[in-house]
Amino acid sequence: MSVETARAGDKRTAICRVTLSGTDYRRAHDACHVAALLWNQATEWVHSEWKEKRSPGKYAIQRFLTALPSGERPLHAHTTEILAHDLADAIATYRTNRKAGMKVRAPWRKKNYRPLSFTANFGWRVTPDGRLALSLGRGRPRIVLPLPRVQDSARGELVEASRWGEIQLCWDRDARQWSLHIPYETVREGSEGTNLIAIDEGIINPMALASWVGERTIEVTVINGREARAVKRRRNKGVGAIQKRLSRMKDGSKRHRRLVAAKKRIKAKATGQLRDFDHQVASRAANFAICHQALRIVAGDVRGIERNTKQRQSAGRHLRQQLSQWSRGTQERYLAEKAGREIEHLNESGSTKTCPKCLRSNRPWGRHYRCQGCGFTCHRDAVGATNILQKAIHGEYLSIGPDTEIRVTYLRAVERWSKDQRQAHRLVQRRKARALSSAPNRALPQATAVSERVPANPSTGASAPGPLAAVA
Ligand SMILES: [Zn+2]
Repeated sequence: MSVETARAGDKRTAICRVTLSGTDYRRAHDACHVAALLWNQATEWVHSEWKEKRSPGKYAIQRFLTALPSGERPLHAHTTEILAHDLADAIATYRTNRKAGMKVRAPWRKKNYRPLSFTANFGWRVTPDGRLALSLGRGRPRIVLPLPRVQDSARGELVEASRWGEIQLCWDRDARQWSLHIPYETVREGSEGTNLIAIDEGIINPMALASWVGERTIEVTVINGREARAVKRRRNKGVGAIQKRLSRMKDGSKRHRRLVAAKKRIKAKATGQLRDFDHQVASRAANFAICHQALRIVAGDVRGIERNTKQRQSAGRHLRQQLSQWSRGTQERYLAEKAGREIEHLNESGSTKTCPKCLRSNRPWGRHYRCQGCGFTCHRDAVGATNILQKAIHGEYLSIGPDTEIRVTYLRAVERWSKDQRQAHRLVQRRKARALSSAPNRALPQATAVSERVPANPSTGASAPGPLAAVA
């Protein structure tokens, strides 16, 4: 349920989507709107104070808001206070940015919605029946939600409510969805490690990871990015189709507005799916790092490819779109969180061309690499990862030796059954039901014979978890 985590030291924020009941939905919207009105009033007041050559600080703004009649601010007192402090923070940010020479304006825009903040134990608390109650101030009904499940993005464990900080209730206008932003503190695992692992990042396959195991073997795991490509393609196509219809329409008409909303929904949905995908990639990569006891994680430095004019000019329209939508940085950030290691970078030029055995430069053909000199063949991304590994260890591309084996594993970032696998699974379930319905057929040997027909998952090589496999 927790979707995104943003890192700030060892503090993280989980974003949990929530569904509010009818009355609470209305109540939350009204409260967000009131918060926006208070924000607007405070902003106006600060501007008028500036005209009088006074410069109110955060407590002055707080006093101004709390002095308003309580009927005008149907919120928890802390929610109002935090609103005042947020405005003071925004003003402080504006001042630093202006000092840094940026062209910025002090907060001035009229808001329609402001997120609501709830402090621990005062603004929010867990009810005796295990639900989350958000207070809108004394004497007013609370907003009550099912208790969200917050998962620590680094350790994978659940974070108990006692470790949560100040919760924000936010309305996502594009997705038309409520979400809770729940900050928590996490302890970084100081796991032991001695090894070095290398990452080659790419558009088709987001990550290929390489590590030496023993004297004569390099293990490489290539993580497939098929799901992300499908999501992006679907989004680009959907948005493109709507854009085309919009271009023929009059601005501000009812149909125009409806289409704009549909476009936002498509984008919001894809954003959520891609965020999930990035987390999955990072968690597969972190597993690799932990399994191979990584002390250092080194990635090829591809920062700036997105902006490199020479590459971009030579790239076609579609490749340019792919490059601009590449979420490499996000995946690296998630990986650093999950593995508890910083990601180092080195110059990776030539890493996908150089032969890891004889160091001859070859042109890779599609996803496949074949050396014209020594006849070495391998997956292209595995070659990239292996070369980066060698350069990270020795400072240059060094031959891995003639009898070193590169063992390549392919992983899909998101585990999802194919149509064939789903069908086979349904078949097994039907057989199981039939077997259970007549007593003589419930003998164990038959059951195991059936479970063997569960197809092996082609991407991982592991057997798909059929229902009988679990029983046996
Ligand atoms: Zn070669």
